[in-house]
This record gives sequence, C-alpha cells and structure tokens, in this order.
Amino acid sequence: LFAMEKKVVIAVVCVAVVVGAVAATSVVADAMVVEMHAGLASEGGSKLKMHISYIDNLPSGDEKGLFYALDLGGTNFRVMRVQLGGKDGGLVNQEFTKVSIPPSLMIGTSDALFDYIAAELAKFIAQEGQEFELPPGKQRELGFTFSFPVIQTSIASRTLVRWTKGFSIDDAVNDTVGTLAGGKYSYKDVVAAVILGTGSNAAYVEHAQAIPKWHGDLPKSDEMVINMEWGNFRSSHLPLTEYDHAMDNESLNPGEEIFEKLISGMYLGEIVRRVLQKMAEEAVFFGDIVPPKLKIPFILRTPDLSAMHHDTSSDLILVEKKLKDILEISNASLQTRKVVVELCNIVATRGSRLAAAGILGILKKIGRDTVKDMDAQKTIIAMDGGLFEHYSEYNKCFENTLNELLGEEVSKTISIEHANDGSSVGAALLAASHSLYL
Ligand code: ADP
Repeated sequence: LFAMEKKVVIAVVCVAVVVGAVAATSVVADAMVVEMHAGLASEGGSKLKMHISYIDNLPSGDEKGLFYALDLGGTNFRVMRVQLGGKDGGLVNQEFTKVSIPPSLMIGTSDALFDYIAAELAKFIAQEGQEFELPPGKQRELGFTFSFPVIQTSIASRTLVRWTKGFSIDDAVNDTVGTLAGGKYSYKDVVAAVILGTGSNAAYVEHAQAIPKWHGDLPKSDEMVINMEWGNFRSSHLPLTEYDHAMDNESLNPGEEIFEKLISGMYLGEIVRRVLQKMAEEAVFFGDIVPPKLKIPFILRTPDLSAMHHDTSSDLILVEKKLKDILEISNASLQTRKVVVELCNIVATRGSRLAAAGILGILKKIGRDTVKDMDAQKTIIAMDGGLFEHYSEYNKCFENTLNELLGEEVSKTISIEHANDGSSVGAALLAASHSLYL
C-alpha cells in the first residue's frame, strides 16, 4: 500500500513539474517581441538572429517557366519541379520525390552529403517528362532551401551558422523562407510562415525601415523577409523544467535552440521519455524495475507520442501496444496508461501553446494583433511541417491558443493555412522570381 501511495504521489510531483510549465503564454509572446526588436537592432543583439533574407520581392503569381527546387530538411530532402503558367496560369504541373538521408551522411562531411544530394537530383532530372517544358535557350534554374540556421550574405550565398536537429557536420553552407514564398504565391495575405516539423522556424515580412541593423539601400517594395531562426529564441519567461535542462545539457548543441527544444517534433517524445524515466526511478511507476529501454535517449519518438495521445479506445489499447513494442513494458495498468496519455497531453500542450505564443509575438510586432478595418483586414499564416500536419491534438491546441490570445474579434481576421510542401514550391518560386533570365 505504501508503495502504491508513494508511486502516485511522486508520479504526481514529476508530472506537476511539467504542468507548472504550461505557463502564461502572453508573457512569452511579449518576450518574443522584445527579442525581435533586439535582433533587428544589431547583429548579435539577441539570441534571436532575425536574419535579413535579402528577399524583398515575394512571388507575385505571374512567374512563368520550368523551375526546380531542392529542400534539405531534418531527416530527408525533397527535389521538385514546377511548371508555372504565368499570370492566371498558376501552378500548371508539379512533381516531387522525397529521399531520406542515410544516417551515416548526417555525421560525415558536407562534401559526401552534397555529392549524394547531387546524384539524387541528377536522377530526378533525368526522369523529366513531356509535360514539363523548358523554354528554348534557357537552362534549368534551381531554388535551394535549407532548414538550418544560416546567415545570408546575398540572395545567392549563405553561410551555415550551425547544424541542428541531430546533424553534426563540420563544413557547409545555407536556410529557408520558401514556405513564406509558397504561401504568398497561393494567398496574397500571407504575412508569416511557420514550420513545425523535426525542428521549428518562422519567417515573416517586415517593414524595411524597421530593421536598424540594415545599412544598405532600402528596397522599392519597402518590405524585407526576415528569417527569424526562432528555434534559438530564449527568455527567462520560457517555462524550462529539470527535464528540459537535462535534455539540453546532453544535446549536440547545449544552450542553443532552446525554443525549438520545447516545441518541435525532434524533442517532444524525448521529454516524455525523461519524465517517464524519472517516474519509474522515483515512484516505481512501471513496477520494481526501471524498464531498461526507457533509459535510451530518443527511443520514444514524437509520432509514438501522438499515436498514444490520440488513442481513443476505452482501454487504451494503442498505448499498451506502444509501451510494449517500444519500451518492452507489458504490465502497465489502465491507470498507468491513463497517466501516460495525460503526460503526452501536457508536453504537447506546452509545446503547442508556446508555438502559438511565438506567432502572437510576430503578429504584435507587425501590428496585426489588433483590428483597424474589420472588413478589409485579413492576415494569413502559412504553416508547414510534419508535426503540424500529423499531430492533430497539437494542432488543435495551437489554433485554440492563438484564438484565446487574440480574442474573438481579431481571431476573425486571422487564418492559418497549411502550405503543403510549401517550402519546396517556394524555393522553385523564388528561383522564378529571381530568374537570371528576367
Ligand atoms: P523535417 O522537419 O524533418 O524536414 P517534416 O516536416 O516532414 O520533415 O517533419 C517530420 C517530423 O514531424 C518528424 O520528425 C516528427 O517529429 C514529426 N511527425 C511526423 N509524423 C508525426 C506524427 N504522426 N505525429 C507527430 N509528429 C509527427
């Protein structure tokens, strides 16, 4: 009996540490605004890099011709071709293929990685069909999106700042605002794009005069796309727990990408694993022995977390299966399984509320968090990434939080659109809007 009571009490304490961390989101949004200002004021002014993308002309919809794109993400890359029909023609044809990156290349040299990518790209180009047509005298142009922190030095050159998301590569170049470009091509009211996948990042359209660190000529459009690298946002207002600190300390990039480590797909499963491990150690949550598999970092992946979270069966049969298949835990009671689901809920809720807070920060920064003209004002956020796409509880919580933070009236002017494969199409569109043949 004592063991049971102790188990419940300590389990409650372990979980409470995380619940306490589902904190005041509006405070985090305000902290994001402060850091956005600081990052725009000077290079190195904030952990939030606020990189100037040098993109001042997002696609207009009038682009025409055949363009390619390559999108290197966390665990895979996509190559794609699009045929653009020009004014009113839209996206006439598109085709893509997704290639997973062999784990050995994730920790090798960038040369080996890029050789592999180039070979896969060549294969894809060789399969170009009749429905794609290259205008005479033109060569194929390629947009390259790269979902890692970079400093852009001009439209065609970038310097990689740091590998994240489990990659560790010594030398390489490059990043992305492709989703924003793709979103803008489809919906003219897009002001920002947010990726929630293995990692997380956001880009938005800023007024050119609101970028004190920019000393060049102001663009005609008076607009400039800012690649926030928001994964690296950090603030004393972020609700970091002992689990977050421990995971960060043991990560490839301690002290970096703190926001990403709270909200993105790479980490949510691992946070849950860490809490479960503590519960097993301190509260015999899974019986007298701590399940050995539970001690393996990253064994619990975010798709497993979402599968358990979405288990609607009354006896939580899927949770039972996941615990058994992944952690070799076969004796978990229904009560225990319910606690596991609640823990998934807490960790996902925290992440998704923080992601929503980040967006509120952007909306505040560009003055779209209030309504000036109810009839005319429309604000669209383009979203992409596997976490956003597949984790529906996360996604629901994210939209609810945003509505809650914005209030009913402002919410009506804001919509979230899924920009499917937006970043790849976006890269092709940017290749088009910056074509050498223009
Ligand atoms: P990447 O970010 O790796 O370029 P994606 O945008 O496709 O690629 O995102 C993949 C990530 O999305 C995975 O690492 C995982 O964290 C998350 N994810 C994929 N499927 C699911 C799922 N069913 N439930 C929750 N998260 C998922």
